[in-house]
Amino acid sequence: MPVLDTFGRPLRTLRISVTDRCNLRCHYCMPREEYTWLPREDLLSFEEIVTLADLTASLGVDRVRLTGGEPLLRRDLPRLVSLLAHRPWIADLALTTNGVQLAGAAGELRAAGLGRITVSLDTLRPDRFRRLARIDALQQVLDGIEAARRAGFTGLKLDTVISRGDNDDELVDLLEYARDVGAELRFIEYMDVGGAVAWRPDAVVSRDEMLARLADHYGPIEPVPAAGSSAPAERFRLPDGQTFGIVASTTRPFCAACDRARLTADGVLLLCLYAQHGTDLRRPLRAGASHDTLRRLIEAVWQGRADRGAEERLRLRDRGVYIPVAALKKDAHLEMHTRGG
Ligand code: SAM
Ligand code: SF4
Ligand code: SF4
Repeated sequence: MPVLDTFGRPLRTLRISVTDRCNLRCHYCMPREEYTWLPREDLLSFEEIVTLADLTASLGVDRVRLTGGEPLLRRDLPRLVSLLAHRPWIADLALTTNGVQLAGAAGELRAAGLGRITVSLDTLRPDRFRRLARIDALQQVLDGIEAARRAGFTGLKLDTVISRGDNDDELVDLLEYARDVGAELRFIEYMDVGGAVAWRPDAVVSRDEMLARLADHYGPIEPVPAAGSSAPAERFRLPDGQTFGIVASTTRPFCAACDRARLTADGVLLLCLYAQHGTDLRRPLRAGASHDTLRRLIEAVWQGRADRGAEERLRLRDRGVYIPVAALKKDAHLEMHTRGG
């Protein structure tokens, strides 16, 4: 029986950030020049990660997504994949990556037991990629997607954050590309999460606007009924049968069904993407707390969970940048690239 929070939401999904480092500087996530990184000695070992994942599993988790920063920067990641893939409780093991180093890693990840891959891809134009991510790496990402296909990953997903004036003229091109590579694309509304210090309300292209623009191009778009999942994306079907998703986190938050906890690379448990505080599990773990003590700690924080960050943001009249740079500089845990998206 999974543990329930104050709104009756079960704990089912754990997103594990394996590093806070990244090799891109996406404009909506890491727009600044300087960042303070987590101290290396604070990073959880793979064995520590598995111990904590096991404890969450005893409370209901059966789905794990590895993320970052850029998870492929974590040395020896396939070993962690293999450890997790062999846990008896795991029903779904997925990875979210920017794809830059995927070409060299896809085969090994598949062999290690990774189930699914999501690649973030915001543009198909090399010059634009360079401007939006500050590194010239589009071809590497496209090669990574190809390599993931060749390695046998089915159910490949592509995640695209749409922002006005940056890439909202590529909705159709990106869908066509997804069709060509046999992936399902998900458009993500630009969110005002910590770290998104360049966010402004008019840069958000809403789900409704995206659908209207796509319908103008393709004709009538049908919703695909959700099969009882807590997945954040609403799915749709184009007249030719191609499906895609929209994650309307900003204009239509889905907090009511949110079953996700996040573990940062240094062992802080966060219960919401917008949470301003987390629970440090690394210290008690390293101080020798028993598994039962740790399990009861996790259970108690989940039972006390009342987070509905995106819904609360939506209610604000004047919605500016969520966390100012000064606060981000003081606490890296407030950054999206530390909590993993
Ligand atoms: N580096 C990996 C990647 O980009 O796929 C994994 C970590 S990244 C933080 C996870 C996801 O968060 C990415 O798909 C990214 O597009 C999304 N993300 C980051 N900042 C965002 C923002 N301000 N609004 C919406 N999505 C955001
Ligand atoms: Fe971009 Fe992901 Fe890196 Fe953030 S963590 S800068 S979204 S690649
Ligand atoms: Fe879950 Fe928080 Fe996102 Fe709402 S804002 S869906 S509670 S992570």
